[in-house]
Formats: sequence, structure tokens, C-alpha cells
Amino acid sequence: MQKRALICGAGISGLSAGICLKRLGWHVTVFEKDSELRTAGAGLNLWPNGVRVLKSLGLGAPYAEISCSLERYRTYSSTGEVVAIEDLRDWPERYGAYLSGVYRRDLSRMLLDALGSERIRFGHQLSEVEQDDQVVCRFTNGQVAEGDLLVGADGIGSIVRSAVFGQQSFTAAGLVRWRGLFDLCDVDVDPLSEAEVWGEDGHFGYLPIGHGKAYWFAAADGITHDPKAVVAHFAAWKGSPVPGLVAATDEATIIRSDLHDFVEPLSHWSKGRVTIAGDAAHPMLPGMAQGANQALEDIAALGTALAAHDDVEQALRTYEQTRMPQVAPVVRYSRSLFDFDDNHELTKSDRNPLFDRYDRIVERRGVPNQ
Ligand SMILES: Cc1cc2nc3c(=O)[nH]c(=O)nc-3n(C[C@H](O)[C@H](O)[C@H](O)COP(=O)(O)OP(=O)(O)OC[C@H]3O[C@@H](n4cnc5c(N)ncnc54)[C@H](O)[C@@H]3O)c2cc1C
Repeated sequence: MQKRALICGAGISGLSAGICLKRLGWHVTVFEKDSELRTAGAGLNLWPNGVRVLKSLGLGAPYAEISCSLERYRTYSSTGEVVAIEDLRDWPERYGAYLSGVYRRDLSRMLLDALGSERIRFGHQLSEVEQDDQVVCRFTNGQVAEGDLLVGADGIGSIVRSAVFGQQSFTAAGLVRWRGLFDLCDVDVDPLSEAEVWGEDGHFGYLPIGHGKAYWFAAADGITHDPKAVVAHFAAWKGSPVPGLVAATDEATIIRSDLHDFVEPLSHWSKGRVTIAGDAAHPMLPGMAQGANQALEDIAALGTALAAHDDVEQALRTYEQTRMPQVAPVVRYSRSLFDFDDNHELTKSDRNPLFDRYDRIVERRGVPNQ
């Protein structure tokens, strides 16, 4: 008999879990609390590790269609000196894929098309989880669903996680990241390069995301609520490309996000027939731009474990044993880009440490050089 997977949440984790399990022959239902697909959130940096997972799910061609492959990564100081230019053109041979930028809205739609909209139940907010020889989900609209497996892909405030593992404590450092969208035709920058700009009072980055669009992400010392103050702050970074980019940004596209990760990582992700993935399992700061990439890697590992073990509980144990040690250092090193004092030191070097960290922690699963 076809096994039934219940997936809670239609973000990147939930949609990709649905596609993966459907390909393995499971009957999949994704439950999403919102009434439609969430499309907000500017762009996203997908690194080769995330793009390889999309390829393994048969989505290499549609992803190439909607995204932008990046050939260079420039690092500047806030006064415009070039710190480093990383040539990324050999990454497809080195890592199996390019570094890329994508509009979140386009990525969500691509994943939804691959899953099939008939597999999603919108307007289903999970409220309770029970399990014995099956898992049962109850929703606030009165609906009940039963399956052989529940994947909690319901983000940082996961109900699945708290139902199974209790409440977690989050870091509350008041960290905020700002993002805004602009059109490449309005600015004079390399359309195939991502860039980062380091200053003592902030951090700014931007990247193309396909179809002539680009977005910036920024953190500015002490500016936590006012988008106008963000624009004014970065307009002063004269000599660097930043003032031109904020001037080309429609203020209506500027969004702010509070950033949190766990005070202590979870000691398990799976219990019985229930597991968690993506931000539900390991929220991380965006310092390495790895949250969604790690979520995709979770789903690939979950799929491998479920393909290898008929017994669901054994598969979920294998999944967490594989992924927990891989994700932990990524969460730790993702914090460090928010230390602006470090940025000043970094401008004295001719390397951006992001690439060493990516290579050692993500690709080679080792410990980075400091
Ligand atoms: C400022 C910022 C920049 C970032 N940049 C990058 C980047 O460049 N690259 C990268 O890889 N990552 C980045 N990330 C991280 C990335 O956005 C997340 O890791 C990723 O989106 C997590 O996806 P998810 O599907 O696990 O969770 P979510 O996207 O949070 O999806 C969870 C889904 O579950 C639904 N849901 C929640 N509760 C319930 C419920 N009770 N019942 C039913 N449905 C429910 C929600 O509505 C939502 O649709 C960034 C994050 C931030 C904040």
C-alpha cells in the first residue's frame, strides 16, 4: 500500500519535501496555514549545495530558467576600495553548480508547479500532533489528517517541534536585516556579480536574481525600525556602489526581518514517525546565506534515508544522525558576519572568509580556518 506523508508548511522545506517524497512513491499532502503561497521576501542566494539538491529533484532546467548564475563575488570597503574579487567561473566543475541568485517568489512558484497544486491544502493551520502506529494531525479549521510520517517544515515557530520536543529558547539580541529590490538597468554594476560591502557601522550586500532584477541585504548599526534611516545611512557610503543602489530602490520594496537562532541546538529532530526540517529544526542567521540551502540538504538526506529503510522510524533516526552534525557548524559560523568590528579588520586582508568557510564547512564538512 502507498505510504502517506503529511508535511506541515509550504515554504522551501515543505515544498521540496513534497517533491522528494512524491518522487519516492509516497502519497504526499502539504498543509499550509496561509490561504495562498507565501511570495514575499526579496531574493535568495542559493549556493552549489542547494542547487545540487534541486538538480537531484529534476529541477535543474527550470531553476536555470528563473535564476541568475553568478560569475564573480566582489568585496569592497564602505569607502569603495576593492578588498577582493573572487572568480567563480570554475564552480560548476569544482562544486557541480554555480552560486546563484533567485527571486523568492519565482522559486516558490517553481516548487509548487513541480509538486502539483492538488497536493497542497491551504488554510490548514496545524494545532495538535499525536502518534502511535500512525501520526494524526489536527488543524484549527477542524480537519484531521492521518499518515505514516509527519515532516514539520513549519518554520522557526514550528508547532510540530514544540508538540514533540517542547519550547525552545531563541537568542534575543535585537539583530535586524533589511532588504530591498531594484532593477539592474537603473544602476551601473556588474550584472553577473554578487557583492558585499564592509563598514565599521554596517554591512551591505547585493546580488542579481534573474529577469533584470537584483536585491540588497543590509544590517546597519543601531537602525532597527526606520527604512528611511537605512537609506540615509547607506547613502553616506560614498565611493562604494551602495549609494547608487539604495537610490534606485523603490522604498515600498524595503522589508525588515528580525533574526534569531536557538540558544542551544536541539538534541533530536525525530521522534517516532515525526521529524522536522529547515528552519523548524535549525534556524540560523543569514551570515553564510545557508538557511534555505541547508533546508534543501535536509530534504535530500531525508529522501535518501526513507529510500534506504522501509521502517519509517529507523529512516528518521538515520536522517537526524546524518544531518545534525553537518548543520551545527553552519549555524555557528553564520553568526559571525554580524560583528562590524570584525569588518574593519577584514578590510585589511585580501580575502573574504566566506569562501573558505563555505568550502570547508559546507562542501568538505570540516572546520574552517579562522
Ligand atoms: C533576512 C534573511 C535573509 C536570508 N537569506 C538567505 C539566503 O540568501 N540563502 C539562504 O539559503 N537562506 C537565507 N535565509 C534563510 C531562509 O530564508 C530560510 O532558512 C528558509 O526560507 C526556511 O524555509 P522553511 O521552509 O524551513 O521555513 P519557512 O519559509 O518559514 O516556511 C514555513 C511555512 O510553514 C507555514 N506554517 C507555519 N506554521 C504553520 C502551522 N502551524 N500550520 C501550517 N503551516 C504553518 C508558514 O506559513 C510557511 O509557509 C534568509 C533569512 C533571512 C531572515
